[in-house]
Amino acid sequence: MTASLSQPQVIEAHNYINGQWVPARSGETFESRNPATGELLGLVAKSGPADADAAVQAARAAFDNWRKYPAPRRGELLFKVAQILAARKEEIARLMTQEMGKVLTEARGDVQEGIDMTYYMAGEGRRQHGFTAPSEMFDKFQMAVRDPVGVVAAITPWNFPMAIPTWKIMPALITGNTVVFKPAPDTPLVARELVKIFEEAGLPAGVLNMVCDTGRAAGEALLQHPEIDIYSFTGSTETGKHVLTETAGRLKKVSLELGGKNAIMVMDDANLDLAVDGIVWSAFGTTGQRCTAASRIIAHRAIEKELTDKLVSRIEKLRLGDGLQDTTDVGPVINSKQRHRIHEYTRIGKAEGANLLLGGDIPTEDGLDKGHFYRPTLFNKVRPDMRIAQEEIFGPTTVVIGVDSLEEAIKVNNGVKYGLSASLYTQDVNRAFFAMREVATGILYINAGTIGAEVHLPFGGTRQTGNGHREAAGAAIDFFTEWKAVYVDFSGKLQRAQIDMDM
Ligand code: NAD
Repeated sequence: MTASLSQPQVIEAHNYINGQWVPARSGETFESRNPATGELLGLVAKSGPADADAAVQAARAAFDNWRKYPAPRRGELLFKVAQILAARKEEIARLMTQEMGKVLTEARGDVQEGIDMTYYMAGEGRRQHGFTAPSEMFDKFQMAVRDPVGVVAAITPWNFPMAIPTWKIMPALITGNTVVFKPAPDTPLVARELVKIFEEAGLPAGVLNMVCDTGRAAGEALLQHPEIDIYSFTGSTETGKHVLTETAGRLKKVSLELGGKNAIMVMDDANLDLAVDGIVWSAFGTTGQRCTAASRIIAHRAIEKELTDKLVSRIEKLRLGDGLQDTTDVGPVINSKQRHRIHEYTRIGKAEGANLLLGGDIPTEDGLDKGHFYRPTLFNKVRPDMRIAQEEIFGPTTVVIGVDSLEEAIKVNNGVKYGLSASLYTQDVNRAFFAMREVATGILYINAGTIGAEVHLPFGGTRQTGNGHREAAGAAIDFFTEWKAVYVDFSGKLQRAQIDMDM
């Protein structure tokens, strides 16, 4: 492997507050580096509470005009954003691969998801319907309409640096809210590109603001800020719980999209080659760093050995490297801290008595030594109660668990604290429908892996994957609006609901 194919200049990345690109009040910066090569890509505003406060004040000041701006015209602006994003897809995808490591084809998919979400929400400018319902009284009309909630704090992780911000920002803006966006410290440069596109499209000042930080300084200030009305957070379960408890005292609306421990169940009647394709893609795509990554394979014992053999021969061939090179199948993990955590789970798995079949080590070959690479890792002889089968690893590690029936597979699938995505490989329609009823996750795939959500279906999970909200589709419109019930009495007399029944 050689060094990164392009040599980008170091980008100076400021905050975006009230339509202006401004450095952090402290004047300090932090580095954004390529996880495959270690090269310096950007110097980013290291923000704190004062920067967060300025962004919130700008969003608050812009809210009154933006909420009254006709929604179809907000939609036209989003449509323009989608067009610019589409025109710049390749350039942004390359930056994304450099900044967070996912291979270029997947980075293109991440940007495409952002484009899809933006077009989808642009269309909502002419929908975001309310409804009417008949009144129980004579000469009375009633309807339910949507109002924006106010100022949104959108706090995002690094693993989908374009898609996830669009899941939050697009539905928030189309429904008339204003936004303070705090991207993850590992991916501020991709975030900056999204904000630049809004600027180019002509978004009024203050409607979208961005503050960057190294982790929590600005984010924590947003959690405490009295002028934030609604929080949309994606990240780890641990941080999500913190977001919820910190904002509970002000009774704020909070959407949490958190971790996963997703499983692919493979039955004895499954097309095994198809299942192997789905497993390799779902477990090692994005180096296993997707909230929907398949980190458990629940295999019927009748096919467990054949499936495992096929998996080993496929995983052995995966090529690690810089995601910009088209020979690369698996890129680096995001940073050294995360790699350490993944390696620690390898140690835990071995100590628990699981059998390490492949990987489990840090490659030292030439070309891989400067990046945060980790060898694709497969364990078998894993019991459902082991930590490697229960806890989110968020890396290129997956485990095989043997079961004797579909019922047992579903019990194992449901027996973790998370409930994001699941998948079943079977050719039996009865088994498929049984699983559709019994699997306790927010997303289920039949004869496909655990990844591949589309923007017009609700996205999210059960149990500790979240707090009951969903992103994308109409669910996002529901989250970012408040219902207002309006009753119009045109009878000209007092009509008392539930009392004057015989008039
Ligand atoms: P993280 O929780 O460490 O960080 C997420 C965001 O929260 C970042 O912007 C971070 O700076 C910010 N943050 C951290 N501490 C904060 C604090 N005290 N106050 C305010 N903000 C704070 O998560 P991560 O490592 O960036 O992302 C990986 C996690 O995200 C995984 O657990 C993964 O499963 C999850 N994830 C979930 C989904 C989903 O939709 N369910 C999607 C992608 C990722």
